[in-house]
Amino acid sequence: MTKAVYPGSFDPITNGHLDIVQRASLLYDAVVVGVLNNTSKRALFSVDQRVALVKEAVAHLPNVSVLAFSGLTVDLARELGAQVLLRGLRTVADFDGEMRLALTNRCLHPDLETVFLMTDARHVFLSSSMIKELASLGGSPAGMVPEHVARALIEICRGGTSPRFEKG
Ligand code: ADP
Repeated sequence: MTKAVYPGSFDPITNGHLDIVQRASLLYDAVVVGVLNNTSKRALFSVDQRVALVKEAVAHLPNVSVLAFSGLTVDLARELGAQVLLRGLRTVADFDGEMRLALTNRCLHPDLETVFLMTDARHVFLSSSMIKELASLGGSPAGMVPEHVARALIEICRGGTSPRFEKG
């Protein structure tokens, strides 16, 4: 059984991330989306909110699961018994950082293979940070993120806590 782990901040998940997860779910027996609880990077959504948004986005994919993690991705991969570390690539601007990350991770865990999936042309310009900026200025993120994420973004940018997160 081949298991891939797809780590990221997912603050929030975009249609670009979702496309990578969907395509990976056809390539691997199991895909685990690891939502990084990153204390050094200030996130708009809490880690629990980000996990909830990803879970709703991938609910139609039976071999995809979602969890929060902190620390090193290689440690998560070891814990899960994953053989593949999945990342997405957009433009050449992503390459330098991703290559350094992949080579560092190979030093830490030589058996873990980093695999890059090229973004779809429709999503090449999409980034969580650009979408957050757009939403904070009152623009609509429709078509860039799943509908439930667009609603959560609009709500949080209006200054309220999304009702979806008040339950638990
Ligand atoms: P990180 O903070 O680790 O970069 P992100 O949530 O921004 O986490 O991204 C997680 C992964 O998804 C990265 O490999 C990133 O390059 C990839 N990614 C981000 N946006 C897109 C997109 N529009 N299309 C394809 N891959 C993407």
